[in-house]
Amino acid sequence: MLKHNLGYPRIGIRRELKKACEAYWSNKIDSNALFEVGKKIRMENWKTQENADLDLIPCNDFSFYDHVLDMSLLLGVISESYLSIPIIHNNIDLYFSMARGFQKNEWDIKAMEMTKWFNTNYHYIVPEFDKNQKFSIFSNKIFDELEESKKILKSYKKIKPVFIGPISYLFLGKEKEKSFNRMDLVENIIPIYIKIIKKLKNEGVNWIQLDEPILVLDMSEKEKEVFKYAYDEISKFCSGINIMLTSYFDGISENISLFQNISVKALHIDLVEDSDQLEKILSFFSRESKMILSLGLIDGRNIWKNNYLNSIQKIEKAIEFIGEDRIMIAPNCSLLHVPIDLEYEHSIHIDIKNRMSFAKQKIYELNDLEKIVKGNKSILSINSSVFCDHKIKERVKNITITDKDVQRDNHFYIRQKKQKEKFHLPLFPTTTIGSFPQTKEIRNLRNKFRKKELSQEEYDNKIKNFIVDVIKKQEEIDLDVLVHGEFERTDMVEYFSEKLKGILSTDNGWVQSYGSRCVKPPVIYGDVDRLDNMTVEWICFAQSQTKKLMKGMLTGPVTILQWSFVRNDQPISHTAYQIAWSIRKEVLSLEKSGIQIIQIDEPALREGLPLKKKNWKSYFDWSIKAFRISSSGVKDETQIHTHMCYSEFNDIFEYIADMDADVITMETSRSKMELLKAFSVFSYPNEIGPGVYDIHSPRIPTIKEIFYLIEKASKKLPIKNIWVNPDCGLKTRKWKEVLISLHNMTKAAKMARLKLKK
Ligand code: GLN
Ligand code: ZN
Repeated sequence: MLKHNLGYPRIGIRRELKKACEAYWSNKIDSNALFEVGKKIRMENWKTQENADLDLIPCNDFSFYDHVLDMSLLLGVISESYLSIPIIHNNIDLYFSMARGFQKNEWDIKAMEMTKWFNTNYHYIVPEFDKNQKFSIFSNKIFDELEESKKILKSYKKIKPVFIGPISYLFLGKEKEKSFNRMDLVENIIPIYIKIIKKLKNEGVNWIQLDEPILVLDMSEKEKEVFKYAYDEISKFCSGINIMLTSYFDGISENISLFQNISVKALHIDLVEDSDQLEKILSFFSRESKMILSLGLIDGRNIWKNNYLNSIQKIEKAIEFIGEDRIMIAPNCSLLHVPIDLEYEHSIHIDIKNRMSFAKQKIYELNDLEKIVKGNKSILSINSSVFCDHKIKERVKNITITDKDVQRDNHFYIRQKKQKEKFHLPLFPTTTIGSFPQTKEIRNLRNKFRKKELSQEEYDNKIKNFIVDVIKKQEEIDLDVLVHGEFERTDMVEYFSEKLKGILSTDNGWVQSYGSRCVKPPVIYGDVDRLDNMTVEWICFAQSQTKKLMKGMLTGPVTILQWSFVRNDQPISHTAYQIAWSIRKEVLSLEKSGIQIIQIDEPALREGLPLKKKNWKSYFDWSIKAFRISSSGVKDETQIHTHMCYSEFNDIFEYIADMDADVITMETSRSKMELLKAFSVFSYPNEIGPGVYDIHSPRIPTIKEIFYLIEKASKKLPIKNIWVNPDCGLKTRKWKEVLISLHNMTKAAKMARLKLKK
């Protein structure tokens, strides 16, 4: 029974990679200094895993920006626009220009598109293919890192180069033009994969890991066909090297028959996300395959200790079916998604810390499991005691939710009438999504307060000044529904998690989100509750400064959950309802204080969607219910808004309608109102603000183009339901752009009121 790992975090324990990359980008260090930092991180990672006695250690899991982009460079998938910049002389600058765009002298080349890596919070750079895409080995990174690892690791037999398999790589990319299907490139790409694998073999490599997470999706017939073809070819031409295919983030039961005659050496499955698949896979393995099965037992996407008893039961079952020789154990996926080392946490209560485990600890858990299999029962009982902690059991209280709690008093039709009578808003009312530019001044202010260099009173007064100022600006622009600007919040989830009971912040629990950007997700460890007002004082102060309507601004339960590490000792729905109940209390408190419009943001609703369609319904059952718990306690006259971003809503619009928010504002402008297509087949019942100003770019939209978008929307939606707003918060923009853009937006809305009234 070998122990192995799929990938180790590459940001460095003190986010050295982030700092080095940013220093390099701003010309503060040269490429040699940057490479040194990379080398040091790799060395430390290898040493850690070697010390933990792993049998196979990943190599090429390091990346200066993104492992999918690394793959594009390995295979020579590089657009001409980047290759033709004459002032770029080396691969690393070419690589970063693809990741971040290139602006210098007369050059202004856009960055490649970035999107979410399956249902995680990691973003990858989307490969772009031409119809006649050629592939060739372009970058030597994988071979260089292999050489390097040979010098560091005591046994080169342990080295397992890791890279993305051909079918997932093609799947993750996109066609530059619509005239072909990228899956048809398989015949061009396979010879290069074969070349790479042979070259690795000649370098003495014993094992390689090809990641094929496409296996956990609902694969089309075409995808299955090319998959078969690809691995037939690879196994035909690549004997003498052990290939492991890995699947993660869900189960592969539906696709297991693909492995009927494929002779790869090992298959890795994710038993954390789908433990039910084990039975089916084992019976397939015992009947029709000689492969080794790698059991993904340790949760690479959460920070809790492994429950050894559960894992041992799975290992024993596997042994019973196919024997110990044919089994490996591992985390379910790369450890990229968890922080590096729990030992750097100094402020977490020991009872909670005892239940936690970061990447380094997870590697050692494999060791423990092996010892237990070999008969060491004391390790098992120590571990079990963590999970039978009575104090934890006691904390798990149920909240009961009745049907009334998830239902507004009256139908939207009645609410809308009452709200229109009360608010007297014009047609095409204008508003923003919540945040306004977060300047250096504001960030400094919050930092100073955090470091206790400012008293509470001084801090509050300064924030109030910002609020007063942003209200004045919004009144000048003549927006209809105003916001307070969110200046007191560093991050929309962090702000609430610091105020809620049952959620903690780590000191150093950083995880890569994309490139040099890291996030520090809060940890939901216990029963969540709201002890006190969280936003009421700020919002009421803001309302006191204007006669216009002030919109209260909250983060919704699904988003708080989605962007945190969530306890796994109770169903996720349960935790969601607790958070929802806390938000509901805040909503009611805002209402009681006279706030008449309240927005509950759910930008992460879409990204929590399960990878397989068959699981969508149960996801929406609890997530929509959670939103409704948070929003349904108010009177008919109180208007609930919600906001969503990250596009692609067309397939889930019916569920979104089920949230029953009075108004929804959404991202659309980047896709030129692509969203509106959905309304041809589904008529959205409530009010909606499809974003008319793309805040993701510094470009200032003209009155004319905003008017055009409003007009387009008014052809698909009832005019009385349309709001006019940017497509997301303005936090990342500059004031200069924001002022003119919003001016243009209100002017366009006024024009629409005149011209589009029926
Ligand atoms: N209210 C938040 C803001 O404006 C919403 C952010 C988001 O959609 N991600 O910043
Ligand atoms: Zn948004």
